[in-house]
Amino acid sequence: MATLIEVNELKKHFPIRKGIFSRAVGAVRAVDGVSFTINEGETLGLVGESGCGKTTVGRTVLRLVEPTSGEIKVRGQEITGLSRTDMRPLRRQMQIVFQDPFSSLNPRIRVNEIVGEPLKVHGVGNKTERNDRVEQLFKRVGMRPEQMTNYPHQFSGGQRQRVSIARALALDPSFIVADEPVSALDVSIQAQVINLLMDLQSELGLSYLFVSHNLAVVEHISHRVAVMYLGRIVEYADKVSLFANPVHPYTEALLAAVPLPDPSLQRTKHRVTGDVPSPINPPSGCHFHPRCPIAVARCSEERPMLREIAPGHQAACHLR
Ligand code: SF4
Repeated sequence: MATLIEVNELKKHFPIRKGIFSRAVGAVRAVDGVSFTINEGETLGLVGESGCGKTTVGRTVLRLVEPTSGEIKVRGQEITGLSRTDMRPLRRQMQIVFQDPFSSLNPRIRVNEIVGEPLKVHGVGNKTERNDRVEQLFKRVGMRPEQMTNYPHQFSGGQRQRVSIARALALDPSFIVADEPVSALDVSIQAQVINLLMDLQSELGLSYLFVSHNLAVVEHISHRVAVMYLGRIVEYADKVSLFANPVHPYTEALLAAVPLPDPSLQRTKHRVTGDVPSPINPPSGCHFHPRCPIAVARCSEERPMLREIAPGHQAACHLR
């Protein structure tokens, strides 16, 4: 499979400003040197606790947020230095589905206008052609065309997320960042939306960066998975290898927190407690060392780099 997205040493630091001159007195290191690739037709799951930087990665890859440093390549073309005009054709190829379908759809606009808006902004077709395209998109995401003139509040959460997906598909993209797309939905609806995304992928050859804190959902939809902790990727592997043989203590801890279908079974791995530390002043060495159940002195002094543990399976831990 050809590489669609290549990200190298991506960093996004948000400056903290104080005083009447707004001097930078520090930085939130939301993303701190992240590298990965996504192939054509592939889903990379990006997983971690709230505050680990995964949402910022998704937005920075699309250049909705400007990176502090690093490279982002789309089909080999470096895009970090491109002007707004040069980014315009690439914007058509790269779309996003947000977490909350309640706040991401303008409540005062009918959903056919919401779905057709990207076509209008990019000057695609005349009004009749755009309406036809919107109707086709509505059907494709499992909605009835007679619902097209309704307002967002007239739909359920799952239907609103289908509208968001239709909008993301309007310009026939190759790549979609799905940012916690089912977290705000009832569990019974989540599977329907995930299955829709998977159907669209096999039909249209889409690639996804699927951002989620939910390991069960990530396991279902992803081909490969990157586990993030405090701005860095700590484990990166194909799905089967990561879930069968997690290497990093943080991945083990995330898996230990997933309920088992059979309550008589017991997790053998360690669990971690406490919250993710602040990315303003992250712990030295391995960021995970204050919470790691097997940490040694070296862990607080030296940053472990990602290295290959098995073919296609990387982890950043001194002891593994
Ligand atoms: Fe734990 Fe040390 Fe490995 Fe970090 S490097 S995950 S602190 S053992």
